[in-house]
Amino acid sequence: MIDIPVDYDNLISIGSMMGSGGLIVMDEDTCMVDIAKFFLEFTVDESCGKCTPCRIGTKRLLEMLDKITKGKGTMEDLDKMEELCYHIKANSLCGLGQSAPNPVLSTLKYFRDEYVAHIVDKKCPAGVCKALLSYVIDREKCKGCTLCARACPADAISGTVKQPHVIDPAKCLKCGACMEKCKFGAIYKK
Ligand code: SF4
Ligand code: SF4
Ligand code: SF4
Repeated sequence: MIDIPVDYDNLISIGSMMGSGGLIVMDEDTCMVDIAKFFLEFTVDESCGKCTPCRIGTKRLLEMLDKITKGKGTMEDLDKMEELCYHIKANSLCGLGQSAPNPVLSTLKYFRDEYVAHIVDKKCPAGVCKALLSYVIDREKCKGCTLCARACPADAISGTVKQPHVIDPAKCLKCGACMEKCKFGAIYKK
């Protein structure tokens, strides 16, 4: 949809809105489930609480999104979320509640495969959702420089100088500090 004209009616027709006129560019390193969660966290905080669908409904949506990002979601959750989104939109008093479910509905519509990957494959394709990724050292590329082990806050990396190092997944906090330190591109997320 790169050719969609950026104006009020066209953006509404694809489930978005003009808002304050800003445009955020995201690539494949942004997880669409995580981004829906990010927007829901904002609306849950901002909801004034006057009407129940917005006050409670957005919280339930956020809980389901959180469950999915932790690899505990089910395909039924997707149907439940969709139903709840339409209920919130139709029964909220002001624009905040009426538009709060939009990020969920549009990501479900255009990036459903990402939701399915989290639920069925227990994978976050963008490598963002911590519960679903692990850090690994490629033995072939590792030079045994020890930089990663010294940077690890959890003492999760072992190995001797000039020998391939190994990450203990049970200790790893998934902070990414080791990957930033490695000058040989030997550490990757999977
Ligand atoms: S829809 Fe508007 S009025 Fe209703 S709880 Fe949400 S913020 Fe308040
Ligand atoms: S920083 Fe990279 S090359 Fe050095 S020990 Fe760690 S994984 Fe191996
Ligand atoms: S991701 Fe963080 S906690 Fe895990 S091995 Fe790397 S530095 Fe250690």
